[in-house]
Amino acid sequence: MAFPRLENSFTELPAVFFSRLSPTPVREPELVIFNEKLADEIGLSLSGMDEEERTELLSGNLVPDGAEPFAQAYAGHQFGNFTMLGDGRALVLGEHLTPSGRRLDLQFKGSGRTPYSRSGDGRAALGPMLREYVVSEAMHALGIPTTRSLAVVATGETVYRESELPGAILTRTASSHIRVGTFEFASLHEDKAITQALLDYLIRRHFPAIEERENKPIALLEAAIEQQADLITHWMRVGFIHGVMNTDNMALSGETIDYGPCAFMDAFAPDTVFSSIDHKGRYAYANQPLIAQWNLARLAESLLPLIEQPRDEAIPLVEEKLNGFEQVYKAKWLAMMGNKLGLAEAKKEDESLITDLLDWMHQNKADFTNTFRDLGRPELPDDELYASESFQTWQARWQARLGEEELDSSLALMHSVNPSVIPRNHKVEEGLQAAESGDLKPFRNLLEALEKPYEDGDHLTPYQSPPKPEEKVLQTFCGT
Ligand code: AMP
Ligand code: MG
Repeated sequence: MAFPRLENSFTELPAVFFSRLSPTPVREPELVIFNEKLADEIGLSLSGMDEEERTELLSGNLVPDGAEPFAQAYAGHQFGNFTMLGDGRALVLGEHLTPSGRRLDLQFKGSGRTPYSRSGDGRAALGPMLREYVVSEAMHALGIPTTRSLAVVATGETVYRESELPGAILTRTASSHIRVGTFEFASLHEDKAITQALLDYLIRRHFPAIEERENKPIALLEAAIEQQADLITHWMRVGFIHGVMNTDNMALSGETIDYGPCAFMDAFAPDTVFSSIDHKGRYAYANQPLIAQWNLARLAESLLPLIEQPRDEAIPLVEEKLNGFEQVYKAKWLAMMGNKLGLAEAKKEDESLITDLLDWMHQNKADFTNTFRDLGRPELPDDELYASESFQTWQARWQARLGEEELDSSLALMHSVNPSVIPRNHKVEEGLQAAESGDLKPFRNLLEALEKPYEDGDHLTPYQSPPKPEEKVLQTFCGT
């Protein structure tokens, strides 16, 4: 058996949620990268196949026996505006059950037009697909819930964006592809059974603990608040900026999804934005928790009709839950930032120690990743920033507070949450540019450097330095 038989639980939902169709064949597919480790881990090593067969499969030219691919319907708020969307250039090939019993969607991105393509060409370019590949794999290695990347195939076709680019298809795996926008789409229908079916399906697939709860829509909202607060806390921990936190890009699996103009921050600045189309900084680093709450409010609105209480009781109940996000997130953030400073359990009084360091970093344009990593070293590196009076005043306060902790465990804790290496945007761009001109070596080296981000090593040095002024990538284009 070369390819396991895929399942299709999603297509048992009402037919409005999907359109069945096959990938559009591509001219001259070439396997650019295959994630052997992920493949082994999920039981999809395709070991019985030669490269040509693998390539045919991962380009969508060959649909495995029994698979019934489909594009998903959804809507969403993009930069605050409601739009009808759907998979315009993606298809779910089916659901794969891993040896450990996990159900994973296998999705192609860039696989051709669908009924939801609107004016789009249904295709993707090599650079952005490799960007998703490397950033999603880095996020996974950092211990952050994320979709993953199994392969990238070049199509041998040209896609037309601002310029002519090589086309590609990404195969990603995801715990599911149900988004806040899927609920927004469901709630557009007169028949509330449509939203109910989606809710029941989501609970079965991701929140079995809720099955017993009486008020399921409220229980789901509570669970989603916890889940998204956890996810955003992780993002803030590593300086990740998603870039397009539209409601269609918020997955209710709790995984980071849809890597477009995303990037990691170098020098700490809370208003950092990378997306070239985010003029108002809606999706800036420091805004991400607020946007998560905003998106959850759109989820709550979609769930309202399912709440059995009268509307004038249901609305205050929902509002109370939504307002609670702030506190839930704040508690998680405080605990995590405390950990980054070696505090096992940060207290309310520790907050100023954290914010004062962040303010200092902001004023001094200190590198977010390196500063935290340095704090956990036996000795601070020789750097004039650390010799400054402003830093030393802060450091003395921190040392005094650390005195209440057990030093070895503080250092171990800091090492486990402060990465020594992240996919810095200038290194990602360097890898993508080389790959576009046919040299995959820098991209592969980058992937390798990101595999164990909490370890140190000389081989990591080239990936640890912040960009020099001329290397800085100021914007990441959505040109996907
Ligand atoms: P994204 O910004 O990648 O989350 O995409 C937003 C929406 O635009 C989704 O519905 C995508 O399927 C759709 N889309 C993006 N690029 C294309 C394309 N080249 N062709 C068709 N649809 C697209
Ligand atoms: Mg999207």
